[in-house]
Amino acid sequence: STIRVRIAPSPTGFLHIGTARTALFNYLFAKQQGGQFIIRIEDTDIERSKPEYEKNIFEGLRWLGIDADESPEVGGPFGPYRQSERIGIYRKYIEQLLAESEAFYCFHSEKELEDEKNNLLAAKRPPLHLCEYRTMDPVEAATLKDVKSDYIIRFKTPAGRKIGFADLIRGELSFDSDLLGDFSIAKRPDIPLYNFAVVADDYEMRISHVIRGEDHIANTPKQILLAEALGFTQPVWAHLPLILGPDRSKLSKRHGATSVDEYREQGYLPEALVNFMALLGWNPGGEREIFSKEELIREFSLEKVQKSGAVFDVKKLDWINGEYIRRLPPEELLKRANTFLPSNYTLYPIPYTLHVLVLEQPRLHKLSEIGERTDYFFRPPEYDKELLRWKDMSDEDISVSLKRSEKIVSGIEYPRPLAGQTGRQVSRDEIKKVFFNEIGEGDKGAILWPLRAVLTGKGASPGPFEIMEILGVEESLARIRAAKKKLM
Ligand code: GLU
Repeated sequence: STIRVRIAPSPTGFLHIGTARTALFNYLFAKQQGGQFIIRIEDTDIERSKPEYEKNIFEGLRWLGIDADESPEVGGPFGPYRQSERIGIYRKYIEQLLAESEAFYCFHSEKELEDEKNNLLAAKRPPLHLCEYRTMDPVEAATLKDVKSDYIIRFKTPAGRKIGFADLIRGELSFDSDLLGDFSIAKRPDIPLYNFAVVADDYEMRISHVIRGEDHIANTPKQILLAEALGFTQPVWAHLPLILGPDRSKLSKRHGATSVDEYREQGYLPEALVNFMALLGWNPGGEREIFSKEELIREFSLEKVQKSGAVFDVKKLDWINGEYIRRLPPEELLKRANTFLPSNYTLYPIPYTLHVLVLEQPRLHKLSEIGERTDYFFRPPEYDKELLRWKDMSDEDISVSLKRSEKIVSGIEYPRPLAGQTGRQVSRDEIKKVFFNEIGEGDKGAILWPLRAVLTGKGASPGPFEIMEILGVEESLARIRAAKKKLM
């Protein structure tokens, strides 16, 4: 028996982090078992489905490296992979259910159904529709359907049945058929509804395991009954825990970004997001948190997926992302970060920009932080003169301090042009040595704070020696002189 798993996203919104996590777990399971991972698009909701959402889902999954073996894009032997293109298949099975009296036409108007639901809710009873049309003579029903426009096709849910199944994650589960009602399966033979279409597709596409979010558990008994009525084999079920916000309620926009796009735009690396998502509910045991995709494929197991909700911890994502950023070679970091750098960075020699990136690399959590952290390397800093004040220094003290720095910097005698650069270049250690020789053991802040501030215009940054190493002697001197003028 071959392992075949799928995700079945509806293109009614941008790729959600929950869908991406479900896709990842399916993908990891399939790859580990030598099976196939399939993407099927559930676009039967014509009003809400949009091609741009479908495109976004494909792009997001591709960016994450979660590649499908079969999908609307790559095709495959069990296509088409869009529900809207499979209408003939659904019609066949709906007609089968109607012919076998497993399904029936319900002629209640929307208004009647709405009133019934409200009355049941008001009486604190489950809002189930137990339909009297289920016993209507099929010939009569067929005639009526030609004159009435208000109708829907429902499943004739058997009474008093216990529907049990073994969930790979949640263990044995059992549902009472009397709590399902005569649920709807299609509006028309060619307009199927979710619970029905999913059963037909999973069967036709030979899906062996249905791995999906816990929010679908309540649908599973319906799908089991439908599969039984159609004479289909059942897949193995595995329901993944919900993703929760820090307050342990279901993750939503209220908690922050929920679409994969937003994470991409904030400068998370796809491999870091994959690593992080794998840990959203999968518990490998032990302390280890960093796993490459290959390692995930090796180590992943559905048995180690927890039942309880998985809290989405952005701090952990930031930490993981930082770990991945630090592992990038400088050239690769530049490739990934270029859209986040000040736009005029291209006017500077590549070795200069690489040097800037390497300086910030140990501190980054997200690539998007790079622009603001490094802007002063690509334009003169802007700041208020108050920034230059260390403790209770007077303006005069600051001027004296900067004059001293100017003297020290201009006296540095280690001209060494860096590849791709003109101007004198000195290493941070050389600069440090000269400074410390000059200023001795006194209050270093009185020299180094104003110096660092005039170089960067920032309240926080790397130290002045590291910065001067990159800026070079000329540019550093120019910034010190500009500050002196500001103080005059
Ligand atoms: N279209 C459903 C969803 O996106 C698919 C559920 C399923 O996997 O059965 O949630």
